Amino acid sequence: MDCLFCKIAAGEIPSTKIYEDETVYAFADIAPAAPFHAIIIPREHIASANEINEGNSHLIAKVFEAAAKIAKQENLENGYRIVNNCGEDGGQTVGHIHFHLLARRNLQWPPG
Ligand code: 5GP
Ligand code: ZN
Repeated sequence: MDCLFCKIAAGEIPSTKIYEDETVYAFADIAPAAPFHAIIIPREHIASANEINEGNSHLIAKVFEAAAKIAKQENLENGYRIVNNCGEDGGQTVGHIHFHLLARRNLQWPPG
């Protein structure tokens, strides 16, 4: 499949690794929106949050387990935000589900 994040998870396109296990891969965003900006993905292709179902939701649980590990690994004790953009109005630009982990600045709410 011609998917950018599948290729990054497979190591076919280089990335700066932040965390990996057998289910999840996390890497530095190429255009960081915060001093710390990781992209966390399940290695298995899921197109968007709209495609989460009973058969694959365990992979999303693993993404959030990884996020907590990354927060400890990176000493993000001051907090962080996890964002998923879904679909056109959600601002999703890559068609492989991914979660942004943003940290090391005071993040405003609500987002723009
Ligand atoms: P989205 O807008 O779909 O929620 O987020 C896609 C994210 O992927 C963006 O923050 C963008 O900077 C990042 N991104 C796009 N292409 C690449 C790439 O080739 N390498 C890395 N490391 N990040 C990418
Ligand atoms: Zn993919």
